[in-house]
Amino acid sequence: YRLSLEDQPSGGSLKMKKVGFIGLGNMGLPMANNILNAGIRVNAFDLSRDAMKKADELGMVTKSSALDVVENIDALITMLPNDTAVESIYLKEDLLEKISKNTIIIESSTINPEVSKKVSKKATEMNISILDAPVSGGVKGAELGSLTFIVGGNEADLEKATPLFKIMGDKTFYAGKAGSGQIAKLCNNMLLAIHMCGTAETIAMGVNNGLDPAILSEIMKSSSGGNWSLEKYNPFPGVMKEAPASNNYSGGFLNSLMLKDLNLAEELATQSKSNTPMGKLARELYKELNNQGFEELDFSSIQQNYLDK
Ligand code: NAD
Repeated sequence: YRLSLEDQPSGGSLKMKKVGFIGLGNMGLPMANNILNAGIRVNAFDLSRDAMKKADELGMVTKSSALDVVENIDALITMLPNDTAVESIYLKEDLLEKISKNTIIIESSTINPEVSKKVSKKATEMNISILDAPVSGGVKGAELGSLTFIVGGNEADLEKATPLFKIMGDKTFYAGKAGSGQIAKLCNNMLLAIHMCGTAETIAMGVNNGLDPAILSEIMKSSSGGNWSLEKYNPFPGVMKEAPASNNYSGGFLNSLMLKDLNLAEELATQSKSNTPMGKLARELYKELNNQGFEELDFSSIQQNYLDK
């Protein structure tokens, strides 16, 4: 169910003074910047020198390792690309040994729910509060502080994290026990891939039959074919000025990340014996797009594979 952030206790006495942030990429840097702009000090670390330079220029305190980030912080946020990075931070280093027991950990990367559960189990055994809290809303949402957090873990820990969720986002959903945030996020992204592919192939069919893509999009958006891709993220260049499609498919959510999420969704389907033929097909289509060398383009660029080249 959705928690309205307005209705959530703001954390009262748990006022945040200093936050650690690891992973300052496309998403992490603007998220950390919003925390900084809310008057909270930010200890920052990223493996990339370029990311560290940007963090420093914005006024964050850059640290030379993940271990250094966790000194005297009220909360730790990680926004990392994949399982390996999350495992290396939480399971291979002594970070959990070093972190104060009062710290709330918000792990916001999109990763395998099993890895999420493993990390959560280790933290919980050490009496450290941790939430898996992957996000939806993209780079724009990260910049505007309007992300949606999809949270798993101990419900009682939500209150501690709420002040930060409020700064970085405007919606929070509690999905259930540890790992549930990741499961819900993978379900969402599999559906996103499916309706993006469906939207792109449908617009192409209309265009191949002489229709104007903008008019067709408007008709479908207001009819029973309406969906998020048509409303917010039209994949056909020129239909929606602000969408990555009208900006050479730059910015936004990379094809490589979408493929990663579809691979994770397929693992989840296999392990839970779920029948997901559409999810599998979407994965094949994104695998092909990545193999063609378009890993760095936005995921709506799937449109190009339906058009005459
Ligand atoms: P990104 O690749 O831009 O950033 C990841 C950052 O983590 C990089 O700066 C990298 O140097 C750093 N990093 C990697 N390993 C590290 C380590 N061991 N220690 C410290 N830093 C390390 O990725 P992103 O777009 O910011 O995405 C981050 C996560 O959020 C991913 O899991 C992604 O699936 C998810 N996500 C992304 C979007 C989006 O639109 N980009 C939307 C929702 C969720």
